[in-house]
Amino acid sequence: MSAASNALKKYFGYDKFRPLQEKVINSILQGNDALVIMPTGGGKSICYQIPAIIMEGVTIVVSPLIALMKDQVEGLRANGVSADYLNSSQTSGEQAEIIEKLIAGQIKLLYVSPEKLVSQDFYYLMLQLKVNLFAVDEAHCISVWGHDFRPEYTKMAYLKKQFPHVPIVALTATADNLTQKDIVSQLNLADPERFISSFDRPNLSLTVAPGRDKFKSILGFLRQRPHQSGIIYCLSRKATEGLAEKLRNAGVNAAYYHAGLSADERAKRQEDFINDEVPIICATIAFGMGIDKSNVRWVIHYNLPRNIESYYQEIGRAGRDGLKADTLLFYSFSDVIVHRKFIDESKLKEVSHAKLERIQQFCDAQICRRKILLSYFGEHLEEDCGNCDVCKNPSQLFDGTIIAQKAFSAVVRLKEQVAAGTLIDVLRGSSRQDIISKGYNQIKTYGAGKDIAHQDWQQYLLQLLNLGYITVAYDHGNALRLTEQAKEVLFGERLVKLVHLASMKSEPVIKPIE
Ligand code: ADP
Ligand code: ZN
Repeated sequence: MSAASNALKKYFGYDKFRPLQEKVINSILQGNDALVIMPTGGGKSICYQIPAIIMEGVTIVVSPLIALMKDQVEGLRANGVSADYLNSSQTSGEQAEIIEKLIAGQIKLLYVSPEKLVSQDFYYLMLQLKVNLFAVDEAHCISVWGHDFRPEYTKMAYLKKQFPHVPIVALTATADNLTQKDIVSQLNLADPERFISSFDRPNLSLTVAPGRDKFKSILGFLRQRPHQSGIIYCLSRKATEGLAEKLRNAGVNAAYYHAGLSADERAKRQEDFINDEVPIICATIAFGMGIDKSNVRWVIHYNLPRNIESYYQEIGRAGRDGLKADTLLFYSFSDVIVHRKFIDESKLKEVSHAKLERIQQFCDAQICRRKILLSYFGEHLEEDCGNCDVCKNPSQLFDGTIIAQKAFSAVVRLKEQVAAGTLIDVLRGSSRQDIISKGYNQIKTYGAGKDIAHQDWQQYLLQLLNLGYITVAYDHGNALRLTEQAKEVLFGERLVKLVHLASMKSEPVIKPIE
């Protein structure tokens, strides 16, 4: 048996490597740089932990997740591996003690934060050690294209310059090409071997549903899955609290989790979830990083995630045991607006807007969702998956030209000054006070869309937005504007194909515009 297999059995109790793990380990042991891309839960840690155990000296593991270092180190120690961490949460006394052990060669794996790694003190410390490997975990943080950019990561180029003979292994679950390129160039990796495992998680069913009657849908979903454990991701802290309360009132054992809770409270709720005391957790994206719970049977996105990477990472927390698990994403126009506002207030607007658009397209598209996901990660799926809502329910398109014309005509008559909510109220003939006082009830299309429910209008407008007929003026109260293509529709020069809403049994009955 090889030294690597021996160590796997001895320290981790496993009999076999997963695909790729052994190849990565051998490459590192030969002194090569490596880029490892594996989905969350794929088993990245062992790829550098085993070389660290086998080789003489110490492996430096860089990880931005300070909160998780302690867990990882404790896990390793419980397995009999001497590991420790250095970060800003420790007193200088504690740090001095660890440094002493390092210099005495008593530590095989040292976890550090990126800040620590790029500090001068740490550089001088490393000169006194026999560093055998750098493992850069969550390496996508190096790239502004990744979803979790950390500026300190960009300073790590110095490793290769100062320690040219120490191999570097970069690991991430984010695979897009730009991110890969950034990782390789910023770390100065020397002709790295690339190890990319498939991102396909065929045991996860994928469903995207219109974001309406969400609570009712969730209750129905839970009724079909009694006693199963799952996560409901919400956009806001308030939403996690509200939803958990509504669920409890409906007799469902659910808790909430967000970064506004105290550290103790968060730890407790996480523990309760892991131990199945509270099977359901309503959480912001703060929840789940590094949580190793294999029997999460479903993940619901109560709101649209901000991009495909986040979505993939979050649904990836379901079904880690390889058994069937379900995912459900509620998609609504109001979430798109919220995200766009967040993005406008942030840095890297262009990239973030583009990524948001990609996930909208994913939600809107009527082709196999797994095909879209995998192609996003650079993989090609030959056959439709048969395990997503589009495969199970191929949607019908219908001639939505008249619906579009009604909406566009109202937009024009409202002088492109109103947002979707008001537009729909006008189309549906609402007698809301400000509609009357502004004289919107006088325009020709007032009430022309009564036969379509408010939420269905939202879905249609979203489709029209994504089809490029409408734009939203975020700097003008989200007022809807028409594009040239919309004008062609109004003049009867262009046909609009819309997707049937899932709830609809037949084509909506539409009265012609007078
Ligand atoms: P990642 O960092 O890629 O998200 P981890 O390294 O945390 O994944 O591994 C995920 C889980 O898989 C852990 O519980 C780990 O112990 C387990 N695991 C890793 N390699 C193997 C293996 N060869 N055999 C069985 N289980 C493994
Ligand atoms: Zn499919």
